[in-house]
Amino acid sequence: MRDPTSFLREEYDALVTKELDWRLSVLEGASTPRCRVDGREVLMLCSNNYLNLSNHPKIKEAAAAAIRSHGAGSGSVRPIAGNMDLHVELERRLAGFKEAEASLVYQTGFAANAGLIPQLADSGDLIVSDELNHGSIIDGVRLSKADRTVYRHCDPLHLEEVLRQAEKHSPPYRRILVITDGVFSMDGDIAPLDQVARIAGEHGAMIYVDDAHGEGVLGEGGRGIVSHFGIDRRSVHVEMGTFSKAFGVVGGHVSGSRDLVNFALNKSRTWLLSGSHPPAVAAACIASVNVLETEPQHVSNLWKNTEYFRKGVREIGFDTGKSATPIVPIMVGDSAVAKTFSRRLFDIGIFALPIVFPMVSRDGARIRTIMNAGLSRENLDEAVSAFEIVGKELRLV
Ligand SMILES: *Cc1c(COP(=O)(O)O)cnc(C)c1O
Repeated sequence: MRDPTSFLREEYDALVTKELDWRLSVLEGASTPRCRVDGREVLMLCSNNYLNLSNHPKIKEAAAAAIRSHGAGSGSVRPIAGNMDLHVELERRLAGFKEAEASLVYQTGFAANAGLIPQLADSGDLIVSDELNHGSIIDGVRLSKADRTVYRHCDPLHLEEVLRQAEKHSPPYRRILVITDGVFSMDGDIAPLDQVARIAGEHGAMIYVDDAHGEGVLGEGGRGIVSHFGIDRRSVHVEMGTFSKAFGVVGGHVSGSRDLVNFALNKSRTWLLSGSHPPAVAAACIASVNVLETEPQHVSNLWKNTEYFRKGVREIGFDTGKSATPIVPIMVGDSAVAKTFSRRLFDIGIFALPIVFPMVSRDGARIRTIMNAGLSRENLDEAVSAFEIVGKELRLV
């Protein structure tokens, strides 16, 4: 009889043949600007730890103190016995930071998208998504019984056309939900949320923005994309984000009206049926909000480093695509060249991974760098000169 698990090996082998399998690097120690990966000291240029808060002494101490006072785990899901004072405090502090009526914390950003999106739109409804939205949004949409369609990437005119078409649907849609990433992680471009919100508003649609790469980065003190555009926050109905990137910890969240939070916590199965954060995580997230509110230098250093590095690689002759944020792709073109580029960078002490087909188009391979507030001028000079060395070696510049 045929082994019922033989597909496991076959499908894995097929990925290996196409060089599409993940080969995991091992970070030996903390995610610091200069760190150890696979036995080599390197500059970290691809973490999401934008503000270097994962190493902030106050945040580490808050986590350690919470273990001493509250233990290692929460003991339950939030609706039963796992709703600690720390979780409640975090939501209060986050809502204050976001200038929202209320916030709800999920275990991860992925759990927020997968748990909430299918509840906001059901059969008889329509979800309209930017074509390049994150995979966790795509999975959230797949869990919904609503009709779904996409609009061209960051194209408000096309969104308007899609919404006009949707109005002709019979029977009329009950609800329409427009979803966009705030910052797109492959190119580092920013969604035109001001226009998206205006157009969606004119058509009576709900707006959901996933600001995973915008929080801690964009807007006043890192308050995110709504603050960046100065939009009335009530016109963006769901502002979703994560503690796993600029906040330096882990966890997802949504902010908006009190009605949104009451609805979300009663309906999101990922929230209701999965254990709550350990005390150390909740306390570290609170400390992280505190740091963002009291130490503005982290966000300003991040932007200074971004401008300096982007200018440096552009002067050498690299194309950094549509980057308008600390995500700075170095466009290479061919997938094989991008992989060689990344290996050579690693040899000379730079950790930056290639993004290749099918994550981007066949001729759109790149090294995706993500800037960090903790990198020094010397670190950045070293990084730029490494890109120059490898770029010349591979005859790209
Ligand atoms: C990283 C990311 C997520 C997932 O967040 P986690 O908290 O790490 O699960 C969701 N959406 C976008 C756009 C992201 O970049």
